[in-house]
Order: sequence, then C-alpha cells, then structure tokens
Amino acid sequence: MMEDKFFTQSNCDRCNQELKERTMSWFNNETICMECSEKEKRIKEKLPNYGKDFEGCGYLPIIDIESIISKTYKG
Ligand SMILES: [Zn+2]
Repeated sequence: MMEDKFFTQSNCDRCNQELKERTMSWFNNETICMECSEKEKRIKEKLPNYGKDFEGCGYLPIIDIESIISKTYKG
C-alpha cells in the first residue's frame, strides 16, 4: 500500500537522504524529503498555472532547475 510505504520508509525516494520530515511528490508517487519538496515548489513556480496540470504526471517537468536553485541560494 502506498500509505504504508509513505509512513515506514526511512529514506527519500529522490535523493536517498534520511527522512526527518516527509511529503508526497507533486509530480509522482515518490515519498520525498522537504528539501526535494522545495525543489519541486521551484519547478511549480515556473510552470503555467503553478503546475496544476502536472499533478501526478509521473515525471519531473524538464526545466533548468539547477540554475533556479543557484539563483535562489546565491549569496
Ligand atoms: Zn530528498
């Protein structure tokens, strides 16, 4: 069951770091850490309609996420 996995797994599906807090990915069924969730938020901000059309699409929409992150955290 997805719910069981969500509460019992100990590492992020995406970056594999230990899950202290967890959330579901917006784009697929992965259980992810808050850090990965923040990255998803930045992807969503770049998408039309705040990524509503991409909910559960099963993949991460290709955008230049690394440049967004470096821009955001610069300085
Ligand atoms: Zn993660």
